[in-house]
Amino acid sequence: MRVGVDIDNVINNLSPLLERSVKKHFGNKWTLWDIYQRYHLRDALRLSVWEELWFWKKFGLEIAFHSKPQPYCREALHWLRRNGCRIYLITARPIIMKPMTLAWLEQHDVPYDKVIFGASEKGKICRENGIAVMVEDSDKNIKNLLQHGVTTIAIPYPYNSHFRSQNLFYLADWRAIANLILQMRFRGA
Ligand SMILES: [Mg+2]
Repeated sequence: MRVGVDIDNVINNLSPLLERSVKKHFGNKWTLWDIYQRYHLRDALRLSVWEELWFWKKFGLEIAFHSKPQPYCREALHWLRRNGCRIYLITARPIIMKPMTLAWLEQHDVPYDKVIFGASEKGKICRENGIAVMVEDSDKNIKNLLQHGVTTIAIPYPYNSHFRSQNLFYLADWRAIANLILQMRFRGA
Protein backbone atom coordinates (compact mmCIF):
# COMPACT_ATOMS: atom_id res chain seq x y z
CA MET A 1 0.00 0.00 0.00
CA ARG A 2 1.31 3.43 -0.94
CA VAL A 3 1.14 6.15 1.68
CA GLY A 4 1.55 9.84 0.78
CA VAL A 5 3.15 12.09 3.38
CA ASP A 6 3.61 15.85 3.29
CA ILE A 7 6.83 17.24 4.80
CA ASP A 8 6.30 20.69 6.34
CA ASN A 9 4.40 20.57 9.63
CA VAL A 10 3.68 16.87 9.02
CA ILE A 11 7.09 15.17 9.14
CA ASN A 12 8.81 18.17 10.68
CA ASN A 13 7.63 20.61 13.32
CA LEU A 14 8.13 24.17 12.10
CA SER A 15 6.35 25.75 15.07
CA PRO A 16 9.21 26.70 17.46
CA LEU A 17 11.46 28.29 14.83
CA LEU A 18 8.54 29.82 12.93
CA GLU A 19 7.24 31.51 16.08
CA ARG A 20 10.70 32.73 17.03
CA SER A 21 11.33 34.19 13.55
CA VAL A 22 7.90 35.86 13.36
CA LYS A 23 8.46 37.49 16.76
CA LYS A 24 11.91 38.65 15.68
CA HIS A 25 10.73 40.09 12.36
CA PHE A 26 7.14 41.26 13.01
CA GLY A 27 7.10 41.85 16.78
CA ASN A 28 6.69 40.03 20.07
CA LYS A 29 2.93 40.38 20.15
CA TRP A 30 2.41 37.48 17.70
CA THR A 31 1.83 34.05 19.21
CA LEU A 32 1.69 30.64 17.59
CA TRP A 33 -2.08 30.81 17.95
CA ASP A 34 -2.16 33.99 15.78
CA ILE A 35 0.26 32.51 13.27
CA TYR A 36 -1.79 29.34 12.80
CA GLN A 37 -5.21 30.97 12.41
CA ARG A 38 -4.67 30.76 8.65
CA TYR A 39 -2.33 28.62 6.55
CA HIS A 40 -0.55 31.55 4.91
CA LEU A 41 1.28 34.06 7.09
CA ARG A 42 -0.05 36.91 4.95
CA ASP A 43 -3.62 35.94 5.86
CA ALA A 44 -2.90 35.19 9.52
CA LEU A 45 -0.87 38.34 10.21
CA ARG A 46 -2.48 40.57 7.54
CA LEU A 47 0.70 41.09 5.55
CA SER A 48 1.20 41.97 1.93
CA VAL A 49 2.35 39.24 -0.46
CA TRP A 50 5.74 40.99 -0.58
CA GLU A 51 6.11 41.09 3.19
CA GLU A 52 5.46 37.37 3.35
CA LEU A 53 7.85 36.64 0.48
CA TRP A 54 10.54 38.71 2.19
CA PHE A 55 10.02 36.82 5.44
CA TRP A 56 10.40 33.39 3.82
CA LYS A 57 13.39 34.58 1.79
CA LYS A 58 15.10 35.70 4.97
CA PHE A 59 14.11 32.89 7.37
CA GLY A 60 12.71 30.04 5.25
CA LEU A 61 15.80 27.91 4.74
CA GLU A 62 16.91 28.29 8.34
CA ILE A 63 13.46 27.32 9.63
CA ALA A 64 13.19 24.35 7.26
CA PHE A 65 16.69 23.03 7.89
CA HIS A 66 16.86 23.44 11.66
CA SER A 67 13.34 22.28 12.54
CA LYS A 68 13.07 18.89 14.21
CA PRO A 69 10.96 15.91 13.17
CA GLN A 70 7.56 15.45 14.81
CA PRO A 71 7.65 13.06 17.79
CA TYR A 72 7.48 9.36 16.76
CA CYS A 73 7.30 10.25 13.04
CA ARG A 74 10.56 8.51 12.15
CA GLU A 75 9.62 5.38 14.12
CA ALA A 76 6.12 5.33 12.61
CA LEU A 77 7.44 5.54 9.04
CA HIS A 78 9.99 2.77 9.68
CA TRP A 79 7.23 0.63 11.17
CA LEU A 80 4.92 1.23 8.20
CA ARG A 81 7.68 0.30 5.73
CA ARG A 82 8.43 -2.90 7.65
CA ASN A 83 4.74 -3.75 7.30
CA GLY A 84 4.64 -3.42 3.55
CA CYS A 85 3.80 0.27 3.06
CA ARG A 86 5.63 2.42 0.53
CA ILE A 87 6.23 6.00 1.68
CA TYR A 88 5.80 8.74 -0.95
CA LEU A 89 6.83 12.17 0.32
CA ILE A 90 4.69 14.67 -1.61
CA THR A 91 5.68 18.27 -0.99
CA ALA A 92 5.05 21.69 -2.49
CA ARG A 93 8.69 22.56 -1.81
CA PRO A 94 10.34 23.65 -5.08
CA ILE A 95 12.88 21.33 -6.72
CA ILE A 96 15.62 23.82 -5.81
CA MET A 97 15.17 22.66 -2.19
CA LYS A 98 15.82 19.01 -3.12
CA PRO A 99 19.47 18.75 -1.91
CA MET A 100 18.68 20.43 1.39
CA THR A 101 15.54 18.35 1.89
CA LEU A 102 17.25 15.02 1.18
CA ALA A 103 20.11 15.98 3.52
CA TRP A 104 17.63 16.78 6.31
CA LEU A 105 15.79 13.47 5.80
CA GLU A 106 19.07 11.56 5.98
CA GLN A 107 20.29 13.51 8.99
CA HIS A 108 17.11 12.61 10.89
CA ASP A 109 16.90 9.03 9.57
CA VAL A 110 13.46 9.60 8.03
CA PRO A 111 12.75 6.67 5.69
CA TYR A 112 10.97 7.03 2.32
CA ASP A 113 10.69 5.39 -1.07
CA LYS A 114 10.13 8.43 -3.29
CA VAL A 115 9.98 12.23 -3.01
CA ILE A 116 7.80 14.34 -5.30
CA PHE A 117 8.64 18.07 -5.25
CA GLY A 118 6.62 21.04 -6.51
CA ALA A 119 3.31 19.28 -5.80
CA SER A 120 0.49 21.80 -6.13
CA GLU A 121 -2.45 19.49 -6.96
CA LYS A 122 -1.92 16.76 -4.42
CA GLY A 123 -5.23 14.99 -5.06
CA LYS A 124 -4.35 14.49 -8.72
CA ILE A 125 -0.80 13.41 -7.87
CA CYS A 126 -2.10 10.85 -5.36
CA ARG A 127 -4.49 9.45 -7.96
CA GLU A 128 -1.71 9.21 -10.58
CA ASN A 129 0.62 7.46 -8.12
CA GLY A 130 -1.91 5.04 -6.62
CA ILE A 131 -1.68 6.57 -3.15
CA ALA A 132 -4.24 4.99 -0.79
CA VAL A 133 -3.98 7.53 2.03
CA MET A 134 -2.27 10.90 2.41
CA VAL A 135 -1.07 12.61 5.62
CA GLU A 136 -1.37 16.40 5.17
CA ASP A 137 -1.85 19.69 7.03
CA SER A 138 -2.58 22.41 4.43
CA ASP A 139 -6.28 23.30 4.11
CA LYS A 140 -5.97 23.86 0.37
CA ASN A 141 -4.40 20.43 -0.11
CA ILE A 142 -6.89 18.67 2.17
CA LYS A 143 -9.72 20.16 0.10
CA ASN A 144 -8.07 19.01 -3.13
CA LEU A 145 -7.41 15.50 -1.76
CA LEU A 146 -11.03 15.10 -0.64
CA GLN A 147 -12.28 16.37 -4.01
CA HIS A 148 -10.27 13.57 -5.65
CA GLY A 149 -11.65 11.00 -3.21
CA VAL A 150 -8.28 10.39 -1.51
CA THR A 151 -8.52 9.22 2.11
CA THR A 152 -6.75 11.87 4.15
CA ILE A 153 -5.26 12.05 7.62
CA ALA A 154 -4.95 15.66 8.75
CA ILE A 155 -2.53 16.76 11.45
CA PRO A 156 -4.81 19.19 13.31
CA TYR A 157 -3.96 22.90 13.22
CA PRO A 158 -6.37 25.83 13.64
CA TYR A 159 -6.13 26.58 9.89
CA ASN A 160 -7.41 23.15 8.84
CA SER A 161 -10.04 22.47 11.49
CA HIS A 162 -13.16 23.26 9.41
CA PHE A 163 -13.46 20.13 7.22
CA ARG A 164 -15.97 17.34 7.79
CA SER A 165 -15.77 14.21 5.65
CA GLN A 166 -16.03 10.43 5.98
CA ASN A 167 -12.68 10.29 4.17
CA LEU A 168 -10.92 12.58 6.64
CA PHE A 169 -9.35 11.70 10.00
CA TYR A 170 -7.76 14.25 12.35
CA LEU A 171 -4.85 12.72 14.24
CA ALA A 172 -2.03 14.61 15.97
CA ASP A 173 0.14 11.70 17.10
CA TRP A 174 2.26 9.69 14.68
CA ARG A 175 1.75 6.52 16.71
CA ALA A 176 -2.01 6.81 16.14
CA ILE A 177 -1.48 7.75 12.48
CA ALA A 178 0.64 4.63 11.83
CA ASN A 179 -1.89 2.50 13.68
CA LEU A 180 -4.80 3.77 11.56
CA ILE A 181 -2.85 3.31 8.31
CA LEU A 182 -2.02 -0.30 9.23
CA GLN A 183 -5.66 -0.97 10.06
CA MET A 184 -6.54 0.32 6.57
CA ARG A 185 -3.82 -1.83 5.04
CA PHE A 186 -4.95 -5.03 6.74
CA ARG A 187 -8.53 -4.31 5.70
CA GLY A 188 -7.22 -4.27 2.14
CA ALA A 189 -7.33 -0.54 1.31
MG1 LIG B 1 2.61 20.97 5.14
